[in-house]
Amino acid sequence: MSCRTYICTRCHSARRAEAAGGLKTDLRCAGCSGPLWELSPMCRVPRKSDTKSWKKLAEAVCRSAPAMESFIRRRGRELLRQIDRETEAFSAHEPSSLREETLKDLKKERERVLKRYAVGGYTLE
Ligand SMILES: [Zn+2]
Repeated sequence: MSCRTYICTRCHSARRAEAAGGLKTDLRCAGCSGPLWELSPMCRVPRKSDTKSWKKLAEAVCRSAPAMESFIRRRGRELLRQIDRETEAFSAHEPSSLREETLKDLKKERERVLKRYAVGGYTLE
C-alpha cells in the first residue's frame, strides 16, 4: 500500500496514512478532530510556523477540491452503474447459493461505493 500525507490546514499539522485517492476517509486531525486533506505526492508540507506557506497550501487545496471531487463522484456513479448491471444480470440467474452470495456481495459493494465516493457533501444518487 502506498502512503500519502494528510494535512490539517487549521492546526498546520500533517500525518501519513494509506493513500485514499481522494476518497472519503475517517481520518481526523489529532488536534482539532477536523477532517484532513489528502495531499498529492508533489506537495511539500511547510514548517508548522510558516504561516504564509500554510495559507498558500490551504488555498491550493481548496482550489483543486471541486474538480477532484467531481471527478471522484463521476467515477463513483460509473461504479454504481456497473454494480447495478451485474446485479441485474445475476438476479436473472436460477436461485442458488452462489447467486445469493454474489448478490449480497454486490449489495455490500454498492453501499461501500455510495459511502466512499460521495465526496464534497453530494450524494451519488
Ligand atoms: Zn486540526
